[in-house]
Amino acid sequence: MESCIFCKIVRGEIPCSKVYEDDRVLAFDDIHPMAPVHVIVIPKEHVPTLLDVDAGGTDILASLFGAAQIVAKKKGIDQAGFRTVINCNEEGGQVVFHLHMHILGGKRLADELG
Ligand code: 5GP
Ligand code: ZN
Repeated sequence: MESCIFCKIVRGEIPCSKVYEDDRVLAFDDIHPMAPVHVIVIPKEHVPTLLDVDAGGTDILASLFGAAQIVAKKKGIDQAGFRTVINCNEEGGQVVFHLHMHILGGKRLADELG
Protein backbone atom coordinates (compact mmCIF):
# COMPACT_ATOMS: atom_id res chain seq x y z
CA MET A 1 0.00 0.00 0.00
CA GLU A 2 1.45 3.31 -1.17
CA SER A 3 1.43 5.42 2.01
CA CYS A 4 1.93 2.66 4.61
CA ILE A 5 5.16 3.04 6.62
CA PHE A 6 5.75 -0.69 6.90
CA CYS A 7 5.09 -1.25 3.17
CA LYS A 8 7.71 1.45 2.55
CA ILE A 9 10.15 -0.51 4.72
CA VAL A 10 9.36 -3.68 2.72
CA ARG A 11 10.04 -1.78 -0.53
CA GLY A 12 13.31 -0.38 0.88
CA GLU A 13 12.04 3.22 0.70
CA ILE A 14 12.56 3.66 4.46
CA PRO A 15 15.68 2.06 5.96
CA CYS A 16 15.48 -0.46 8.79
CA SER A 17 17.84 -2.50 10.90
CA LYS A 18 16.94 -5.90 9.47
CA VAL A 19 16.97 -8.88 11.81
CA TYR A 20 15.42 -11.57 9.59
CA GLU A 21 13.75 -11.87 6.20
CA ASP A 22 12.22 -14.59 4.08
CA ASP A 23 9.78 -14.56 1.17
CA ARG A 24 6.78 -13.83 3.42
CA VAL A 25 7.98 -11.81 6.41
CA LEU A 26 10.46 -9.13 7.44
CA ALA A 27 11.74 -8.51 10.98
CA PHE A 28 13.53 -5.32 12.07
CA ASP A 29 14.49 -3.48 15.25
CA ASP A 30 11.80 -1.14 16.57
CA ILE A 31 12.78 2.51 16.17
CA HIS A 32 11.59 3.31 19.73
CA PRO A 33 12.52 0.18 21.71
CA MET A 34 10.48 -0.55 24.86
CA ALA A 35 12.95 -3.24 26.01
CA PRO A 36 16.63 -4.08 25.35
CA VAL A 37 15.40 -6.31 22.51
CA HIS A 38 12.36 -5.00 20.63
CA VAL A 39 11.82 -6.40 17.17
CA ILE A 40 8.85 -5.90 14.84
CA VAL A 41 7.83 -8.76 12.55
CA ILE A 42 5.56 -7.98 9.61
CA PRO A 43 4.07 -9.87 6.70
CA LYS A 44 5.43 -8.46 3.42
CA GLU A 45 1.86 -8.37 2.17
CA HIS A 46 -0.20 -5.37 3.39
CA VAL A 47 -2.75 -6.63 5.93
CA PRO A 48 -4.14 -3.80 8.11
CA THR A 49 -4.98 -5.61 11.35
CA LEU A 50 -5.25 -9.04 12.94
CA LEU A 51 -8.96 -8.94 12.10
CA ASP A 52 -8.12 -8.86 8.40
CA VAL A 53 -6.46 -12.28 8.49
CA ASP A 54 -9.21 -14.66 7.35
CA ALA A 55 -10.10 -17.46 9.65
CA GLY A 56 -8.74 -19.96 7.13
CA GLY A 57 -5.67 -17.88 6.36
CA THR A 58 -3.53 -19.08 9.19
CA ASP A 59 -0.38 -19.24 7.02
CA ILE A 60 0.38 -15.61 7.66
CA LEU A 61 0.17 -16.10 11.43
CA ALA A 62 2.28 -19.24 11.25
CA SER A 63 4.89 -17.23 9.33
CA LEU A 64 4.91 -14.50 11.98
CA PHE A 65 5.29 -16.98 14.84
CA GLY A 66 7.91 -18.97 12.92
CA ALA A 67 9.87 -15.76 12.43
CA ALA A 68 9.45 -14.97 16.15
CA GLN A 69 11.26 -18.21 17.03
CA ILE A 70 14.12 -17.39 14.67
CA VAL A 71 14.37 -13.78 15.89
CA ALA A 72 14.39 -14.82 19.57
CA LYS A 73 17.24 -17.26 18.89
CA LYS A 74 19.16 -14.74 16.77
CA LYS A 75 18.86 -12.11 19.50
CA GLY A 76 19.82 -14.65 22.20
CA ILE A 77 16.66 -14.17 24.27
CA ASP A 78 15.03 -17.54 23.58
CA GLN A 79 16.16 -19.31 26.75
CA ALA A 80 15.77 -16.38 29.15
CA GLY A 81 12.34 -15.65 27.69
CA PHE A 82 10.50 -13.09 25.65
CA ARG A 83 7.02 -11.80 24.87
CA THR A 84 5.09 -11.56 21.61
CA VAL A 85 2.38 -8.90 21.27
CA ILE A 86 -0.02 -8.01 18.46
CA ASN A 87 -1.92 -4.78 19.10
CA CYS A 88 -5.27 -4.54 17.33
CA ASN A 89 -7.15 -1.31 16.67
CA GLU A 90 -7.23 1.84 18.77
CA GLU A 91 -7.83 0.57 22.29
CA GLY A 92 -5.38 -2.24 21.65
CA GLY A 93 -2.73 0.41 21.07
CA GLN A 94 -2.28 -0.14 17.34
CA VAL A 95 -0.68 2.90 15.73
CA VAL A 96 0.65 1.44 12.47
CA PHE A 97 -2.13 -0.21 10.47
CA HIS A 98 -0.04 -2.91 8.86
CA LEU A 99 -0.26 -6.13 10.87
CA HIS A 100 2.82 -6.62 13.04
CA MET A 101 4.06 -8.61 15.98
CA HIS A 102 6.26 -7.09 18.68
CA ILE A 103 8.98 -9.33 20.13
CA LEU A 104 10.19 -7.98 23.47
CA GLY A 105 12.93 -9.30 25.71
CA GLY A 106 16.35 -8.81 27.20
CA LYS A 107 15.01 -7.97 30.66
CA ARG A 108 12.33 -9.21 33.06
CA LEU A 109 9.16 -7.74 31.60
CA ALA A 110 6.50 -6.14 33.77
CA ASP A 111 3.50 -8.29 34.66
CA GLU A 112 0.99 -5.89 33.27
CA LEU A 113 0.29 -5.92 29.55
CA GLY A 114 0.01 -2.18 29.20
P1 5GP B 1 1.87 -0.39 17.32
O1 5GP B 1 1.65 0.59 18.42
O2 5GP B 1 1.17 -0.01 16.04
O3 5GP B 1 1.58 -1.81 17.73
O4 5GP B 1 3.42 -0.39 17.06
C1 5GP B 1 4.06 0.26 16.02
C2 5GP B 1 5.54 0.17 16.31
O5 5GP B 1 6.25 0.50 15.14
C3 5GP B 1 6.01 1.13 17.41
O6 5GP B 1 6.65 0.39 18.44
C4 5GP B 1 6.96 2.08 16.70
O7 5GP B 1 8.06 2.45 17.49
C5 5GP B 1 7.38 1.27 15.48
N1 5GP B 1 7.69 2.08 14.32
C6 5GP B 1 6.91 3.06 13.78
N2 5GP B 1 7.51 3.60 12.69
C7 5GP B 1 8.68 2.92 12.54
C8 5GP B 1 9.74 3.02 11.58
O8 5GP B 1 9.72 3.83 10.64
N3 5GP B 1 10.79 2.18 11.74
C9 5GP B 1 10.85 1.26 12.75
N4 5GP B 1 11.92 0.48 12.81
N5 5GP B 1 9.87 1.13 13.67
C10 5GP B 1 8.79 1.96 13.56
ZN1 ZN C 1 1.49 -1.83 4.67
